[in-house]
Amino acid sequence: MMSDEYPVPEEWMADISKILFTEAQIQARVAALGRQIVHDYADKKPVLVGVLKGVIFFMADLLRAINIPVEVDFMSVSNYSPELRDKGVVRLVKDLEMPIEGRHVIFVEDIIDTGLTINYLLRNLRARQPASLEVCVLFNKEKRRLIDLPLRYKGFDVPDNYIVGYGLDYREQYRNLPFVGLLKAQALHQPAHPATGL
Ligand code: 5GP
Repeated sequence: MMSDEYPVPEEWMADISKILFTEAQIQARVAALGRQIVHDYADKKPVLVGVLKGVIFFMADLLRAINIPVEVDFMSVSNYSPELRDKGVVRLVKDLEMPIEGRHVIFVEDIIDTGLTINYLLRNLRARQPASLEVCVLFNKEKRRLIDLPLRYKGFDVPDNYIVGYGLDYREQYRNLPFVGLLKAQALHQPAHPATGL
């Protein structure tokens, strides 16, 4: 695969079987989402809430595409065992720093798969009584969805394959690829890191 047009690690390029969305395609879509949000929240000073770390590229670009007053905050979660995860239980490792009661909140997500994680977090945020709560997701993997989620802002529908890049990782790798691509099967089965288990 040609890689000279991307300033990315050569050995990671070799793990990508296909580029699904180029940097330019992502930027154009994110700009359009920003325009929609500007239109809908002109006088509302929304709070954009993201979950670390996958959302960092999307959040940074989305914020820059919004030219009205806006605030941002982050939370961080870690999944429990696969069994608990299947029940939609996640552990809040870092909470928001600002109160959101009475605020117009936009929950910004990089990718939604089954919907269990975001469903848990939306319930948690709703309990804090924001004035409104909407979802803005960049990559929507509808095929495995278990929960009916209203997605106010949606970037791209993606197939049921594991994607990496633009903030999305596999075992903490590949986040800094500027595009989003499919991982080759062989790259998906690397042994876990002995120290971290990731
Ligand atoms: P859900 O609870 O919706 O099934 O899981 C969502 C989480 O799973 C995402 O926040 C992300 O961490 C992870 N995830 C699901 N699909 C993918 C994927 O294709 N690529 C990456 N990098 N993470 C994914």
